[in-house]
Amino acid sequence: MIPGDERMVGMSAPFGLQPTVEIVQAGDPVLRASAPAWDPSARREDLDALVELMRSTMLAAPGVGLAAPQIGLSLRLAVLQDLWPIDEETAAAKEREPLEFMVAVDPSYIPVGGRTATHFEGCLSVRGYTASVERPADILASWSDLDGVRHERELHGWQARIFQHETDHLNGTLYVDKAATRSLCTEQNYSRFWSYEPASTVREGLGY
Ligand code: ZN
Repeated sequence: MIPGDERMVGMSAPFGLQPTVEIVQAGDPVLRASAPAWDPSARREDLDALVELMRSTMLAAPGVGLAAPQIGLSLRLAVLQDLWPIDEETAAAKEREPLEFMVAVDPSYIPVGGRTATHFEGCLSVRGYTASVERPADILASWSDLDGVRHERELHGWQARIFQHETDHLNGTLYVDKAATRSLCTEQNYSRFWSYEPASTVREGLGY
């Protein structure tokens, strides 16, 4: 997932020399499959290597999350990290708090409360586009770490959005499935026409 936000600064990944793999693009069936149940017998050293590769691929993209199907592997595994510097105004508007690197094995979520938030988001597997998606703003996230220990944590705002986006990938769902289709923009046109406009203007202008 990429934030679709040209106001991010420090875009160049600091890990440019790390190995990366190609990110699968929409239309590949691996992105539409529900990943099978997690195999707890997977070798730890293989998982560590895979996680490192996913992390460097995510950072180089650059993105704030990457799910295993996005590199062609139908596994219930995702990595998340959102430590990119952004301006305060954008952070406040999106409730965007820094998210330390996390590995989510077999993640799931349930909405908490009834609050929703609507923001433009993008996806490294739908390169070049962004669209507006309404999502629960507060969730109870659960996942396992690589040691098989289950975790639960309430996530809010942009952190909750990233977690939902990546978990959805493991169930064959892309953000465009949940987006207001009339809001679909190329990233260039989003920057050119809408990124500095209030949400109501964008909604009216695009008619969604
Ligand atoms: Zn994505």
